[in-house]
Amino acid sequence: MELTDEIKVQRTTKSKLPEVDFNKLGFGNYVSDHMLICNYAKGQWEAPRIIPFGEITVSPTTLAFHYGQSVFEGLKAFRLEDGRINLFRVQKHYERMLRSLDRMCMPGIPEEIFVDGLRRLIEVDKDWLPAQPGVSLYIRPLMFASEAKYGVKISDEYCFIMFTGPVGPYFSQPLRLKVETEYTRAAKGGTGSAKCAGNYGGAFYPTQKAKEAGYDQVLWTDARENKYIEESGMMNAMFVIDGILVTPPTSDSILAGVTRDSLLTLAADLGIPYEARPISVAEIENAFRHNTITEAFGAGTAAVVAPISTIHLNGIDHHLPAYNDNAIMFRLKNKMEAIRKGQEEDKHGWNFLF
Ligand SMILES: *Cc1c(COP(=O)(O)O)cnc(C)c1O
Repeated sequence: MELTDEIKVQRTTKSKLPEVDFNKLGFGNYVSDHMLICNYAKGQWEAPRIIPFGEITVSPTTLAFHYGQSVFEGLKAFRLEDGRINLFRVQKHYERMLRSLDRMCMPGIPEEIFVDGLRRLIEVDKDWLPAQPGVSLYIRPLMFASEAKYGVKISDEYCFIMFTGPVGPYFSQPLRLKVETEYTRAAKGGTGSAKCAGNYGGAFYPTQKAKEAGYDQVLWTDARENKYIEESGMMNAMFVIDGILVTPPTSDSILAGVTRDSLLTLAADLGIPYEARPISVAEIENAFRHNTITEAFGAGTAAVVAPISTIHLNGIDHHLPAYNDNAIMFRLKNKMEAIRKGQEEDKHGWNFLF
C-alpha cells in the first residue's frame, strides 16, 4: 500500500504559531496548525489528508458517542541539537494502538498512515517544535466509530485523526494519592489494558471524590479483592522498596505503558535491581511502617516520572521522604531524556529520526 506517497497537504492560510509563547507552554494548551485525517468505510481506508486543524461535522447518531468505540494514543517528538526530529518509540505506540483497536472491534490503522503520516504531519508543522530545552511535541492519535446509526452495533465506519501540540516541561508538585478500595477502574477480562475512552469516563467520579478529599488522583487496586495495587489515572505506578524498583506486572486491567517499559529497560542497563510483580496494599503499608519504601512515582508519557509525596491508605496519610537528584526515578528519567535528545547512544532502537 502506498497511501502516504503523496499525502495531500492543504496548508493553513493563517498560522497560529505567532500566538504561542514557548516560554509558557504548559501542557495541552496549544494545538499545531494541521491535522491528519483519514476515513474508513466499506472495509477500506481512504487516502489520508493533512488539512488545517479545525472542527469536524458529525451526526448526533454517530456511534462512538452512544456506545463508546473510541481509542487514542499519546506520544512525543523531540528536536535534537543537530536540528533533526525524533519521534520517540513510535513503533511501540503504534503496536499498542493496534491492540486497543482490536479489543474494541475497530479496524487496524495501517502503519503507513500512522507512522509515515505522522512524520509528514510533523514535517508540515516542524516550526511548532523548536530546539528550546524542555519543549517537546505531544501527539494525539484518535480513532472513533463515525457511522451515523443509533442501533447498538459495531460500527462499519471510522475516522482516524492525529493532531499535535507543543508542551513544556512538566512541573508538578509531588502527588498526593488515595488508594482506592471502593471503586474500580478495570476488571479482569475488561478493557483496562486498552487506551479506550470509556476507561477514563468511568474513572472521573472516584477521582473527583478523591480530589474533594484533598488528593490529586487515586491509586487503583484490583477489582476482585481491592488488595493489589494496579496503576494511577494515566500513569503506571512504581515504588522503590528495600532498594528495589518494583511495579505491578501488566495484565488485562493495567495499561502497558511505554514509559514503564522504557524505565524498566533503563533500570536493567544501569544495574538497578527491579521486579515486575504483584504489590499488595498490605506490603506498601508494611513498608511505610518499617521505612523501607523510599520512592513512589507515576510513569507516563506526559510527565515521564511524577514523584508521589503522600499515599493515603486505610484512613492514614503515609508520607514519602523528600527526594534528591540521586533518586532512582530521576536517574532513570535523566537517562531516558538523554537518549531521546540524541545525547546518549540509542542502543534499544527507540529513536525514529528525520
Ligand atoms: C497512557 C496511560 C499510561 C501511560 O502510558 P505511556 O505509554 O507511558 O504514556 C498508563 N496508564 C493509563 C491508564 C494510560 O492511559
